[in-house]
Amino acid sequence: MKKVVKFGGSSLASACQFQKAASIIRAEKSRRYVVPSAPGKRFDGDTKVTDMLYDCYETAVGGRDFDKKLDKIKARYMEIIEGLNLKLSLDQEFEQIHDFFKKGAGKNYAASRGEYLNGIIMAAYLGFPFIDAAQVIFFDADGNFDPEKTNNVLSARLAKTEYAVIPGFYGSLPGGEIKTFSRGGSDITGSIVARAAKADIYENWTDVSGFLVTDPHIVDDPEPIETITYRELRELAYMGASVLHDEAIFPVRSEGIPINIRNTNDPSAPGTMIVESTCKKPRYTITGIAGKKGFAAVNIEKDRMNSEVGFGRKVLSVFEDNGISFEHIPSGIDTMSVFVQQAEFEEKEQKVLAGIHRTVDPDYLEMESDLALIAVVGRGMRSTRGTAGRIFSALAHANINIRMIDQGSSELNIIIGVDGKDFEKAIRAIYDIFVVARL
Ligand code: ASP
Repeated sequence: MKKVVKFGGSSLASACQFQKAASIIRAEKSRRYVVPSAPGKRFDGDTKVTDMLYDCYETAVGGRDFDKKLDKIKARYMEIIEGLNLKLSLDQEFEQIHDFFKKGAGKNYAASRGEYLNGIIMAAYLGFPFIDAAQVIFFDADGNFDPEKTNNVLSARLAKTEYAVIPGFYGSLPGGEIKTFSRGGSDITGSIVARAAKADIYENWTDVSGFLVTDPHIVDDPEPIETITYRELRELAYMGASVLHDEAIFPVRSEGIPINIRNTNDPSAPGTMIVESTCKKPRYTITGIAGKKGFAAVNIEKDRMNSEVGFGRKVLSVFEDNGISFEHIPSGIDTMSVFVQQAEFEEKEQKVLAGIHRTVDPDYLEMESDLALIAVVGRGMRSTRGTAGRIFSALAHANINIRMIDQGSSELNIIIGVDGKDFEKAIRAIYDIFVVARL
């Protein structure tokens, strides 16, 4: 059994959190490759080291004095080192960082130092070899992640070392400069390492016990999700459920390696298993509910629209020409609506409206704003009758008007559009009917 374990920023924010992480790693010999994030927030209102680094670097490139800011960052690490009773000096590292900041080594380099230094501390604390991610994770000349080169080099390297710490979040460009993934990207590194190590499982340790059926800010203490498929997760993540970086599933998905989301502060909780597919029936008909506010709809009416070949394409080309992607396009015989993200749409709305008039000459055109979309996701829906019926009656009982319905062809999700003001109430009503009523 071989495991890759990634620890998020809050799991490594202080010496005490480091100790928890280390005892988790030491508890199983199979936890062989460790991917740390940079120190995150220790308490509400605290600043992540990554953000401190971005800020410090900006000061440096602005030609201002950045010594104080860099000292503060160093103090965060020293607090951890001292708390762990480690004999480790980062003086040389910080001198080099200072020099590189002065030389303008780039934002990516700056941000990457967060995980780099945390990796050095973690390796010293565990007694594991340290592998600099710049030597094993590669991006191409366009700045895109290079999966094949990375996998070749990294797997060869891991074959030579039974245990290692590999910092998350960054790698290098062909010329050797540092490049980071997008924010939260240590999740991706963990997945890349799991693939290269041919791990049996990728454990992603964070500060929650996995995915919850819905947002705890909306429903009190929602039930955890035990097992979720990659496809379900994609649907929920797109609609705002965030625990794991969006891109993190791809490297392991192609190898069939499951991801287990676990809680560093509650290691006995089983967390959530993310798998390719499973025979396990979900506990409830639905796996999760997620949603987002801030959508607008453009409603277009034209007599005999349905017999006009190319009507939809022409309408959508107007959105495309304006660089706006659409979310959903529910349609009727003589009507068609296009759902878009309001923030993106607002600045271009008049151009789009004019474009639609010009291209399809509608009888009537209307816009609605402040809509919310809710995704009810579940692999169990396919084989269960009446799921949509239950959603609609739950919403009707809660006095919520449904503005749009869309069921994907995969029958994995039902998307419902409601007024923004009904958003939370609608999620609660759906949660109640599927989860609370079943408990
Ligand atoms: N430290 C980076 C961030 O704050 C990457 C990560 O934690 O995954 O985004």
